Amino acid sequence: MQNTIKDDIGIEGVGLHNAKKVRLTFRPAPPDTGIVFIRVDKGVEIPARIENVVRSEREITLERDGVRICTVEHILAALAGLGIDNVCIEIDQDEPPVVDGSSLPFCEAILKVGITSTDLPKKEISPQNPIWVEEEGKSISILPDQSLRITYSIEFPYPDVGFQSASFRITPEVFLAEIAPARTFGFLDEIRPLQEKGFFKGGSLDNAIVITKDGILNKEMRFRDEPVRHKILDLIGDVSLIGSIKGHIVATRSGHGLNIRFAKRVKGLIEGVMDINGIQRLLPHRYPFLLVDRIVEMEKGRIVGVKNVSYNEPFFMGHFPGEPIMPGVLLIEAMAQVGGILFLSAFNKGMAYLAEIERVRFRRPVVPGDQLLVEVLMLRVRQNIAKMGARIYVDNSIVAEAEFTLSRPRETK
Ligand code: ZN
Repeated sequence: MQNTIKDDIGIEGVGLHNAKKVRLTFRPAPPDTGIVFIRVDKGVEIPARIENVVRSEREITLERDGVRICTVEHILAALAGLGIDNVCIEIDQDEPPVVDGSSLPFCEAILKVGITSTDLPKKEISPQNPIWVEEEGKSISILPDQSLRITYSIEFPYPDVGFQSASFRITPEVFLAEIAPARTFGFLDEIRPLQEKGFFKGGSLDNAIVITKDGILNKEMRFRDEPVRHKILDLIGDVSLIGSIKGHIVATRSGHGLNIRFAKRVKGLIEGVMDINGIQRLLPHRYPFLLVDRIVEMEKGRIVGVKNVSYNEPFFMGHFPGEPIMPGVLLIEAMAQVGGILFLSAFNKGMAYLAEIERVRFRRPVVPGDQLLVEVLMLRVRQNIAKMGARIYVDNSIVAEAEFTLSRPRETK
């Protein structure tokens, strides 16, 4: 059932990055509200939802109507970890208090007033198939499971960190005892240059573990493997932006940026961002020449579409009898259609023609049963011309890649 807090909670402190004094008040909220930040100094509500994430390199920043709130992940983790679904968080600054660098002070404040349940069921996201994303030796995936479990591995070239791996089934009790107390951490040689750029201005040994090649500057660690536990805490906060998740998440060297990409992928694959009806409103293509079933991610300059390749595709009849292989040119067509949706969505509809293709590589045949994940990036756009780069994946390996140009015909009367 959906939960909220029993009463108001006030917390004061300074922001980790901006070091400004800030006052924050949690207030109970009715079912289906979700987690909503309210910038009382600006009069703007910012729901903690993935579509409002505008920055995720070092921390999570949310924005709505040009108003931002940054470094929200430790609060989100506290709420998700304790299973709280609905709460309004009033704040008079653009960054919440860092407190001790963990989620524990938020959890303790919440437990002091207590949690109350409603009679409306939680909305849970529970993938039925594995989903994963990876980049540059980092990866994160989810496997079906009865409840939320997280397995995380990190590796940093510092003697006191090295390789750490931990796995927990996340219940409120486990979260409170094993994860919430784990503090944020940084490496001294990285912190100094970041401070010059305006980060970690409120950071100190009271709210962060500071690691050097020669050892850890803090007097005590709360856990021998506190850094990996903090990564689990961050991940719980990050993925809560798509809701309450059921499944076994396995992360290797992931961080906020990849966590957010992963969360978008999970949400997109489960809920979709555009279905076949939406696609047909935008594209003039129809069966048997519509080569995209669903759009699962769309943001500025990037789109991901899905095409399920069935044995009944008409081209398999002759290409080739007894050994069906999807024609390479149709893979290019699928890329162009997905790219066309990104391009045309700016104009609401219309036509776009392929004007040029280059750097085409086919890496392995596509056969009946394959699910194509078509990722297209906008490389350059100039009025009626869009240059794009695309990759098609099957089971996370590239089957085809290309660059192409789409051109929109001039408007005719
Ligand atoms: Zn963190």
